[in-house]
Amino acid sequence: GTVNDILKVENLEVVYNDVVLVLKGLSLACPRGEITALLGANGAGKSTTLKAISGLLECEDGEVTDGSVLYQGEPIQHLIPEKIVRKGIFQVMEGRRIFEDLTVEENLRCGAFTRPRSEIAGGLEKVYDYFPRLRERRKQLAGYMSGGEQQMCAIGRAIMARPQLLLLDEPSLGLAPLLVEEIFEIIKKINSAEGVTVLLVEQNARAALSVAGQAYIMENGRVVMEGKAADLLHNPDVQEFYLGMG
Ligand code: ATP
Repeated sequence: GTVNDILKVENLEVVYNDVVLVLKGLSLACPRGEITALLGANGAGKSTTLKAISGLLECEDGEVTDGSVLYQGEPIQHLIPEKIVRKGIFQVMEGRRIFEDLTVEENLRCGAFTRPRSEIAGGLEKVYDYFPRLRERRKQLAGYMSGGEQQMCAIGRAIMARPQLLLLDEPSLGLAPLLVEEIFEIIKKINSAEGVTVLLVEQNARAALSVAGQAYIMENGRVVMEGKAADLLHNPDVQEFYLGMG
């Protein structure tokens, strides 16, 4: 890690319901302006890590019991989620948690709740430029959109918040291969155009490593491997266990 890390997680320990120890001393860093991938099998603790950063852990009876989350050098592990959003961290939850009974555009507007009203029209235009399909369907109820369109809506809502750090939990989950490619291309585009730092949790290691600059691999609540994404793509162990090339 360097001073150029916008986020530093140090020796983080997380417990659910006062008993279940899920993160067991997790450390990672996100260099400013880059995409960092967090990979690992089901249950390794990836989603828990994102929730510990965004503060959403407290909604699930989870608690940080040791270690720290430093955002721009400041400890934030004991702040409430709203404070963390206002500092510029926005999480897109796994499974497209959008408001099904609101239109696409109403969903997008919700993302801007911390922004001045004067920014909303420009923000919507930007999101519709990234996702032309959302422009076509802006008056439609979000619940009637396809899975891929709902994922676009969830990411678009995050863009409306103009975060400095975007936490993405499994954006490819349940999407057809072509759509996965499209979503990852857009994530890359958003990262370079907006300068937003991205921490990307994924089961689809190949797709994640192809857009990320660096990556961490988690097992059982700890980081077991880290490095440049390009190096990990060519690492025999990674190929065998995470890329299905064994
Ligand atoms: P997945 O890809 O399956 O979501 P993950 O790596 O994101 O996996 P987590 O969702 O962080 O893993 O879960 C890590 C562990 O924490 C699992 O054993 C899970 O059962 C447990 N866990 C997650 N949420 C809770 C909760 N609210 N209460 C109790 N245990 C939980």
